[in-house]
Amino acid sequence: MKVAVFGCGYVGLVTGACLSALGHQVECVDVDPRKVETINRGETPIFEPGLEAMLKENLAAGRFRATLDAQGALEGARLSMIAVGTPDRDGHIDLSFVEGVARTIGAHLRTAPDDHTVVVKSTVVPGTTLGLVARTLEAASGRVAGEDFGVAMNPEFLREGFAVQDFMEPDRIVLGHLGVQAGQALEALYAGFACPKLHVNPTEAEFIKYASNALLATCISFANELYTLCEATPGADGRKVLEILHMDRRLTPVHQGEAVRPGLLSYLFGGVGYGGSCLPKDLNAITAMARERGLPAPLLDQVVAVNRRRPAAIVDRLARELGGLQGRTVALLGLAFKPGTDDWRHSPSQPLVDALLAQGATVRAWDPLVDAGAVAAWGGRVALHRTSAVLAGAHAAVLATAWPELTAWPWADLVGTMATPVVLDGRNALEHVAWPGSVRYVPVGRGPALA
Ligand code: NAD
Repeated sequence: MKVAVFGCGYVGLVTGACLSALGHQVECVDVDPRKVETINRGETPIFEPGLEAMLKENLAAGRFRATLDAQGALEGARLSMIAVGTPDRDGHIDLSFVEGVARTIGAHLRTAPDDHTVVVKSTVVPGTTLGLVARTLEAASGRVAGEDFGVAMNPEFLREGFAVQDFMEPDRIVLGHLGVQAGQALEALYAGFACPKLHVNPTEAEFIKYASNALLATCISFANELYTLCEATPGADGRKVLEILHMDRRLTPVHQGEAVRPGLLSYLFGGVGYGGSCLPKDLNAITAMARERGLPAPLLDQVVAVNRRRPAAIVDRLARELGGLQGRTVALLGLAFKPGTDDWRHSPSQPLVDALLAQGATVRAWDPLVDAGAVAAWGGRVALHRTSAVLAGAHAAVLATAWPELTAWPWADLVGTMATPVVLDGRNALEHVAWPGSVRYVPVGRGPALA
């Protein structure tokens, strides 16, 4: 099947490459000429394990290419997928990229055969596919959605850093469509997958994606709130509390005496807050949608509020340890929103740095993957390091991302290079280290020792 995918970002490029690996003929459209050139050279503009090899193989086989030419990509395609960004604009979802692509596809539909199906893969607030997208397609094509062409919503659940694996080994595929034709096109697209394929309507499909991200964010804020309470309670260790909570078989299913994979519970640990390109924007989008429709969503409002407070609380904790941050040098370890990705969009490292600078600290950042653009926003006030020399002369280190590299550092030697050996472990990733007696090691979620 020929497929035109709009957007060569994490979702569009991974979707396009994986579909071509399954034997489909894929053209991935983007508006960024540099991205298109890079991809057609067999390189990836993003870091995702396995993606580059897959791209090279399918480019060589002639099953995949990137292009700036939208109408050329649509020519002969049975299916088009909208996988462009839906960013946050002042706490609301910005659907202008989705709308723009719908207009482009609609122009093609004026003359396309009747079996074309338009699939929304971007995360969009419930009602968007049958509302804005279908209306735009109809206005641009002069034809009727659901009759002259198919419309569908097929949410994506991939995790950055595991994107290829998650796409190729999904737990389930959600096919949100109205009418038989779009459902058949999606079944044909995913014929190579054995997992359950759930046929729902587009609005339910949109809700499933938001419900998924809202639950993950709720787990994280729940854990962070518990940690905040434990941190103020002598003798309490929030980490231990959650680990033992996890052993309840209602939360971690047990099969033949063995705990089944941790699943959701890997999200039920505290830290410096959730971040990334999805959870913050999706929680903002769904709570803004609730407000606009006059619907109360007090739980999700508080999930967002707890998350916003967490980085500042971490920095306040550090300030108490150091007796103030004015004139102190702090090494912030990890800018990416989680290990295994170069994505630092909406990472909690950003409010952490902001709060450190606001309290007068000098900040150096360390990260193995993010590019220099990550620190450019602070206008030269934050230097980016790639080695453990970031610790030399620092008054404190704050671990913000649980990069495995950090657990392998020779900490016992490195703390000797610091001006004052204070380590605030925002992910409790360094608990195994045998810290020299001189070091003040501060994990999150743990209250003061019992008197
Ligand atoms: P991204 O920002 O990485 O990529 C979007 C791409 O779309 C960019 O390359 C941009 O140049 C391109 N683009 C913009 N306008 C275009 C147009 N008119 N025609 C063609 N291309 C255009 O975004 P992403 O992370 O891939 O996310 C895409 C969507 O998928 C979002 O709605 C996001 O919420 C959702 N999603 C993301 C993830 C994730 O982990 N990143 C996971 C699931 C769902």
